[in-house]
Amino acid sequence: MKIDFANLQYQHELYKEEIENAILQVARNCNFIMGNEVQELEKSLEEFTSAKYAVSCSNGTDALLLAMMALDIKPGDEVITTPFTFIATAETIAFLGATPVFVDIDEKTYNIDPNKIEEKITPKTKAIIPVSIYGQPADMDKISEIAKKHNLKVIIDGAQSFGSTYNGITDSALADISTTSFFPAKPLGCYGDGGAVFTNDENLANKMKSLRLHGQSKRYHHKYIGMGGRLDTMQSAILNVKLKYYPKDLAKRAEVASKYTKALENKSNIVLPYVDKKTTSAWAQYSIRVKNRDELQEKLKLAGIPTAVHYPMPLHLQECFIYLGYKKGDFPISEIVSEEIMSLPMNPYVTDEEIEYICENLG
Ligand SMILES: *Cc1c(COP(=O)(O)O)cnc(C)c1O
Repeated sequence: MKIDFANLQYQHELYKEEIENAILQVARNCNFIMGNEVQELEKSLEEFTSAKYAVSCSNGTDALLLAMMALDIKPGDEVITTPFTFIATAETIAFLGATPVFVDIDEKTYNIDPNKIEEKITPKTKAIIPVSIYGQPADMDKISEIAKKHNLKVIIDGAQSFGSTYNGITDSALADISTTSFFPAKPLGCYGDGGAVFTNDENLANKMKSLRLHGQSKRYHHKYIGMGGRLDTMQSAILNVKLKYYPKDLAKRAEVASKYTKALENKSNIVLPYVDKKTTSAWAQYSIRVKNRDELQEKLKLAGIPTAVHYPMPLHLQECFIYLGYKKGDFPISEIVSEEIMSLPMNPYVTDEEIEYICENLG
């Protein structure tokens, strides 16, 4: 058997006619920048997420930049996040001249441990960025309470969690600002780079709309130092098609996850994903923990089963962050999870036979 990790080709086949027509339409209209399809997408994103404002942008990394720029994060500020995430979460903090301050993760959800946040708050702290890792929102009740008490802003890095919920609310509508990514391999992917920011605050929404267009207030008048952060019309047109089917995709991902869990729950050598009762996950990844990861990855590879590691090195140990002065042992849970974590093939189309085959090979 030869199994595909994200199965993007199969997905294209499914929606081929509609997506190819949408692309062709943009090509023929030549409205490549900020065409109608972009506004159409933003309206649909607002409907889907129930966030009052959706602002599309160039990718999930720029979404984080837009969010922090809108909140005036600047040199000298401190922003709290976890070291167990994709580099973009902390890279963007540093890029703006602020200091990423790491807090270890919860052992079960792999999201930021809210009980360890307060000890890291200083007069310089401006914001907390919880990451909804693998698709599941963090413990937002506790995080919001801490933020309120210390007058901090909350930005959710929802690059992996579009469509997830916490207490029934989508994670796009849960914080001051929420971000997402439409990178092809994310749960809702476009055909290149794409992203969005969400907020319920009109002023923040307007500011982010301006920031993504070089900070302009009107054509060639610039109120802020901004960026070229627009989403292409072409990508919007593709997302307009894919968003229609996304609720179905999300349900299928959840189904695949529960089948994996059922097939693996008796294997004592594997730690399964934990989903909190308050949340639903977008299942960007189905990630398990094993002691003999390298060996197992090799064995699975030979059996035609692709796996991936998200992420093999926590951010406090990355070369680019040496200047922050962290050392091995500072975030023990992030470190051990980085050594043991392994993602199995996850997409809406994993078949029962594939799940059975994968789980058999997991020994
Ligand atoms: C993918 C990802 C990003 C960045 O998104 P891009 O669209 O690739 O720029 C940021 N944060 C997390 C947690 C991610 O997984």
